[in-house]
Amino acid sequence: MSSAVVVCTWGEARGGLPDGIDEVLTLGRSYAGALGTELHLLVIGAMADETPAVAGSYGVAKLDRIDDAKVAGFQPDAFVEALAQYCAQVSPTALLLAQNLESRLVAARLAGRLHGAAVMNGVAIEGGEGAPVQVTASAYGGDTRIVYELADGATPVVCFIANAAVPEAVDGAGAAEVVAAAVDLSSVEERVKVVQEAKTEGPRLEDAEIIVSGGRGLGSKDNYKLIEELAAALGGMPGCSRPLVDDGWVDSARQVGLTGKITRPGLYVAAGISGASQHMAGCNASKTIVAINRDPDAAIFQHAASGSWETPSRSCPS
Ligand SMILES: Cc1cc2nc3c(=O)[nH]c(=O)nc-3n(C[C@H](O)[C@H](O)[C@H](O)COP(=O)(O)OP(=O)(O)OC[C@H]3O[C@@H](n4cnc5c(N)ncnc54)[C@H](O)[C@@H]3O)c2cc1C
Repeated sequence: MSSAVVVCTWGEARGGLPDGIDEVLTLGRSYAGALGTELHLLVIGAMADETPAVAGSYGVAKLDRIDDAKVAGFQPDAFVEALAQYCAQVSPTALLLAQNLESRLVAARLAGRLHGAAVMNGVAIEGGEGAPVQVTASAYGGDTRIVYELADGATPVVCFIANAAVPEAVDGAGAAEVVAAAVDLSSVEERVKVVQEAKTEGPRLEDAEIIVSGGRGLGSKDNYKLIEELAAALGGMPGCSRPLVDDGWVDSARQVGLTGKITRPGLYVAAGISGASQHMAGCNASKTIVAINRDPDAAIFQHAASGSWETPSRSCPS
C-alpha cells in the first residue's frame, strides 16, 4: 500500500481550517481513496481546538502536528526544514497545499530538498496504485490546462489554487487522531529577517464578504466614485480590474486578479469588467458573481451564474 497522502497547512483558521484547506482535503481524500491509502493533515504551528473534528469530517485519519517555537509564526527556513524532516520520516505519496504567498515560498524549496517536483496552480490530482501521479494545473493565467505526469520516487509538492474543488465533507466521521511529529529545528537560523512589517491600512480585500469592482467600462476615473459608493452602501469593499491600476485611477491594493488580490467573497459585483481569465483568477471563488455589462456576450456572464448567497448579519449604512 502507498504511504499516506498528506495535506499540509498553517496559519489562521476560520471554522477549524485555514482558507482553501477544505478544498485541498476534498481533492486529497479522493486521491488517497484511489491509492487505497490514508489521508493525513499536517498542521504546523498553532491549531484551533475544533481542527481535529473538522479534519475528521473531511476524511482525515490522522492529524500530524509540528509545534515548535521556531514555527510559531511563518518562517520560510524553519518551515522548509520542518517539512523536509517530516517527509523523511513519513515519505508521503504526495504533499498537498493550498496555494498562497507563503506556500509559494515553501513549495519549490521543499521540492528541491526532497529531490522531487513542485507543481503550482494545481486543480486536480489523479493516480492509482502503481500508476504515475498526474497533476492538472491551470496555465497562462487560467486560459488553459496542463497535465503533468510525475516520475515515481520522491514526494511531489503540489499547490492548489482557490476553487479547485467544491469542498465536500463525509458523513459520520469522527475526529482525526492527533499525533505529534518530532522535528529538530534547533539549528535553523532564518536567513531573511523582516525588519518592518508591510503597512496595511484598514480591512483587507481578501477578507471582504462583499466586493464591488469597477473596470475599464467605467470610462473615467471620476466614475470609480460610483463603485465606492455602492460598496459602502452594501457594507462591502471596492475593488477594480488591472487597467484602472495601470492608468493610475485606483491604488494597486484594490486590484483583483492573478497579479492582484485573490478574493473569496460571498458577493462579487463586477461593473464594466469583461471577465478576462486573469481577472477571474482573483474572484472566481466568490459564491455569487453579479455582472453589470452592456455586452451580453462578455465573458463575465459565463461566471455570473445564479447562486445562493445569504446576506451577512450586519447592518448596511443607509
Ligand atoms: C500576465 C497578466 C496578468 C494580468 N493580471 C490581471 C489582474 O490581476 N487583474 C485584472 O483585472 N487583469 C489582469 N490582467 C489584464 C487582463 O487580461 C484584462 O486585460 C483586464 O482584466 C481587462 O480589464 P477590464 O475588464 O476592466 O477591461 P476590458 O477588457 O476592456 O472590459 C471592459 C468591459 O466594460 C464593458 N463596458 C463598456 N462600457 C460599459 C458601460 N457603459 N456599461 C457597462 N459595461 C460597459 C465592456 O463591454 C467590456 O466588457 C492581466 C494580464 C496579463 C497578461
